[in-house]
Amino acid sequence: MNENPALLAALARGRKAVDESMAFWVQQNGRWDEEPMTAILCQNVAPHVKPITFNKQQEGIIGADWLWWWVDPSGTCFGMLVQAKNLERKKGRWSVDFDHANKKGQQLDLLLQAADLFQVAPAYVLYCGDTEYRTGLHCGLRHTEPVCDRCTRAGVSVLSALAVQYFLLLSQDSAAVDAFGHAVPLEDLADPKVRQRPLWDDPNFSNVPELRAFLVERQYGALQVAKLLFTQVSKLRRGQMLLAAPRRIGVGDGKIFPDLPVDRGHFSRSYYGNILRGLRTELPSYVRDAEAGRALPPDLEGRLAGIAIFYL
Ligand SMILES: [Zn+2]
Repeated sequence: MNENPALLAALARGRKAVDESMAFWVQQNGRWDEEPMTAILCQNVAPHVKPITFNKQQEGIIGADWLWWWVDPSGTCFGMLVQAKNLERKKGRWSVDFDHANKKGQQLDLLLQAADLFQVAPAYVLYCGDTEYRTGLHCGLRHTEPVCDRCTRAGVSVLSALAVQYFLLLSQDSAAVDAFGHAVPLEDLADPKVRQRPLWDDPNFSNVPELRAFLVERQYGALQVAKLLFTQVSKLRRGQMLLAAPRRIGVGDGKIFPDLPVDRGHFSRSYYGNILRGLRTELPSYVRDAEAGRALPPDLEGRLAGIAIFYL
């Protein structure tokens, strides 16, 4: 698939605008708010993203989560339920308030539950400040000095919520640094030149050629977005010393992969289903309704701050 240079430029423009705004507010105030950053991002990526916001009378049922749908020219699409979080510097330590509790419970649990309801991949968009703000923090093993392309693009990054839950289980103290190291810069999701490693070639999948091809071969478009998010949990799964359960289970109609391995490793859910159920052959009808300006059922609007459709 050819790259979409206009979308790549728009995503980079969006990230730079967010970087500038975060730097401004850090200077003014020592911090920034998530919500205006999402608005700045959408405004600068448009028309390659179509943001649809809802009135917020019912906000608080789940939170200010957005549904992001990535749709490519073939119609294949990938859905994520996205919660925005800030990378914060507190007394010389890095932190992200992933586990914030409200009256309804822990935000992370609520995000995972809501993503189950929408049958999409739960994820975080991390607003990480500009490179100056992040002095002393870098992207990990792939980091290069004196200039690191990946760190330069990391101001707006995306990370699987299942991976975050696992980091919190390992260590609350290092979860923010782990999250930053594993998150993928937003603009990389749509860049066909970005590095993709072959993933776990499990012999259990030898009779599932489509899934095996997805894991082993380079992917493009909506499949690439899903694969980069899936790579985050797959890498963690390889470090978990548990045999994989070979069984698969159906994940419903309209999906690119109609059945997926149940293997959970040390995650709270099947990591295949948690992410790859978001891959569909076409946009769900409620997204097409929102795209066409038609009203959505109130219970659905009440659960979301908005829907953003990215055109790959
Ligand atoms: Zn780096």
